[in-house]
Amino acid sequence: MANDVWVYIEHKGGNISPMSFELLGIGKTLANDLGSNVCAFAIGENVGDIANEAFSYGATKMYAVEGEVFKSFRSEAYAKAATFLLDKYKPEVALFRATTQGTDVAAASAAQLGFGLCTDSIGLQIDGGQIKMTRAAFGGNYTVTVVNEKAKPQIATVRPKAFAMPEKDASKSGEVVKESFSVAEGDLNTKVLEFLQSEVTINLVEADIIVSGGRGLGSEDGFKMMKELADMIGGAVGASRAAVDSGWISQEQQVGQTGKTVKPKIYIACGISGAIQHLAGMRTADCIVAVNKDPEAPIFKNATYGIVGDYKQVVPKLVETLKAKLNK
Ligand code: FAD
Repeated sequence: MANDVWVYIEHKGGNISPMSFELLGIGKTLANDLGSNVCAFAIGENVGDIANEAFSYGATKMYAVEGEVFKSFRSEAYAKAATFLLDKYKPEVALFRATTQGTDVAAASAAQLGFGLCTDSIGLQIDGGQIKMTRAAFGGNYTVTVVNEKAKPQIATVRPKAFAMPEKDASKSGEVVKESFSVAEGDLNTKVLEFLQSEVTINLVEADIIVSGGRGLGSEDGFKMMKELADMIGGAVGASRAAVDSGWISQEQQVGQTGKTVKPKIYIACGISGAIQHLAGMRTADCIVAVNKDPEAPIFKNATYGIVGDYKQVVPKLVETLKAKLNK
């Protein structure tokens, strides 16, 4: 139907990012309000298995473009295919995850279609048949509501973990609509030569526990301590921009306005002052534990638990206590 809500299913070589399913959950709510359906759309070499997963999380239909040229993600090829689908079917709304891949495809498609794009949405609702998209602005101090009256589809990227994961029902099925669309290799500027495995084993955005370090760690060595604590409790290591800029840890680990937005169950911030740009990326964590030697550090205003002290003394004590409790 022309006023359907479409959700882009992000995957790497067929492995779906589970957070695409969160979008099917909110997509279904929006579709109900519009009196329409939530549909998935995917691009890849072979997306058959993706369809089954999408149906079990609520999609009633999946639109697909398949082909060898789409084997590995390349923004040019994927965006052309997404633009083709969106232009042909003109759904009311198209949702993408606010990840590197999602933002890449959404932005290129919106530009190719000549439409606007609301990035990093944290709220989506239908009001009078019109979608309203809410996003943070000015480092998370304000929220703004974006309405794009003339565009169809309305395109938004959605912050991971902003919406609840819908229930899975593996008995559900749906219709797959395959479109023949291709891109010639010669028209692409990039080739994927090989994949290098990142040293980072736990995806920061999806982690339930994050141990983060800032400038207060004083050196790269401080991150060894963060990693020891994170490994003990099955967490990922994050960082402030100051730590990244100091060259102590990769930019991939940066949390904040110009880094990743995370929403773990526990966020342990060590030697991080709590600048507004850092808070913008982690303030919605369920529980924030701050370790800082300055009792006046702003991070304490946002912390669930605060420990005033030198991390070099506090963190080894935490590790020791947890080792005993977890029998490690
Ligand atoms: P500092 O502010 O220097 O704080 C260090 C803290 O460590 C202090 O509170 C100190 O008391 C404490 N400390 C020192 N020694 C110890 C010790 N031994 N034990 C315990 N505590 C100790 N920042 C981000 O993090 N992410 C972003 O995405 C980001 N984007 C930005 C975008 C823009 C446009 C701008 C202008 C800035 C951005 N910043 C970002 C930078 C941000 O403004 C701060 O400069 C940065 O977050 C500070 O990092 P920090 O807390 O590690 O360092």
